[in-house]
Amino acid sequence: MVEKQPVLYIVIPCYNEQEVLPITSGMFRDKLRQLAGEGKISPDSRVLFVNDGSKDNTWAIIQKLAEEDPCFEGICLSRNRGHQNALLAGLMEARTRCDITISIDCDGQDDINAMDAMVDAWHEGCEVVYGVRAKRDTDTWFKRTTAEGFYHIMNAMGAKVVFNHADYRLLSRRALDELAHYKEVNLFLRGMVPLVGFKSTSVLYDRASRIAGESHYPLRKMLALAFDGITSLSVQPIRLITGLGLLVSIVSFIGVVWAVVEALLGATVAGWASTTAIVCFMGGIQLLCLGVIGEYIGKIYMETKARPRFCVAERTWEKEREE
Ligand code: UDP
Ligand code: MG
Repeated sequence: MVEKQPVLYIVIPCYNEQEVLPITSGMFRDKLRQLAGEGKISPDSRVLFVNDGSKDNTWAIIQKLAEEDPCFEGICLSRNRGHQNALLAGLMEARTRCDITISIDCDGQDDINAMDAMVDAWHEGCEVVYGVRAKRDTDTWFKRTTAEGFYHIMNAMGAKVVFNHADYRLLSRRALDELAHYKEVNLFLRGMVPLVGFKSTSVLYDRASRIAGESHYPLRKMLALAFDGITSLSVQPIRLITGLGLLVSIVSFIGVVWAVVEALLGATVAGWASTTAIVCFMGGIQLLCLGVIGEYIGKIYMETKARPRFCVAERTWEKEREE
């Protein structure tokens, strides 16, 4: 029916996921079979797991899956590098072997049936297809509020991200090749992909709750991700500081004029409280601004080192080293 059958790689970062992998791996395999059966993708399509330095049996499970069924492949990072780096490692590994990738979490939260629409969109000429959550009723109130606040703050700070889109997306080979040119160490993929451009669209899906295991994204990590996202995509905070500095300067100038006038009129009283208040206020603002600027300098420091973003220690399709 469709003449061109692309090789699809489903790229899945896994960190301590021994409870969910045995369940969800079958779901991913069935999805590949169904799509291949419908002639939408090539039968050579694969599921590529990235073991992100898990401390449990995740890698052993992946190796076993790869042994039993050639549709499963896996790579193992040399240590835990975090979700974004693990995902990039998988995408870069898949890039040379496929026509399209779909990245998804391995916990079964994202509805895999949205993949059909994603592949259809690719056939219609899209290079990037964002999976967007239709609603969040399965998330707790806290997770929903913090997560949606995250997108609003990100956009207000100039880091343009697709609302309610996490890392469930289709990327074509062409988009991946362009993404490979982005050498930054501070990774925030959902901010980087829109920068790559190309024709894109969104597919809506419902997000379920985790099948098993626990979320690896507590509030602390979400805040860190948001902060990373803002500072690696935008210099808006520094501009805000400049604006703030200007505002405080104007107010101070008015204050000086006022003080001089008061002094000339002879109405001055020893104002310990007001002096202390101004000193504290200025000190606080300056420290805050220094902190934000320092954060950027830290980022520059890490970027100048240009350290590798991941290191692949093992691949399921490579023979073990000879004894
Ligand atoms: N993950 C990873 N490395 C990490 C933390 C998480 O590869 O250091 C993976 C994890 O296995 C999962 C995905 O990233 O497939 C998203 O994590 P999780 O489901 O815990 O986050 P949430 O969906 O709660 O935001
Ligand atoms: Mg999850």
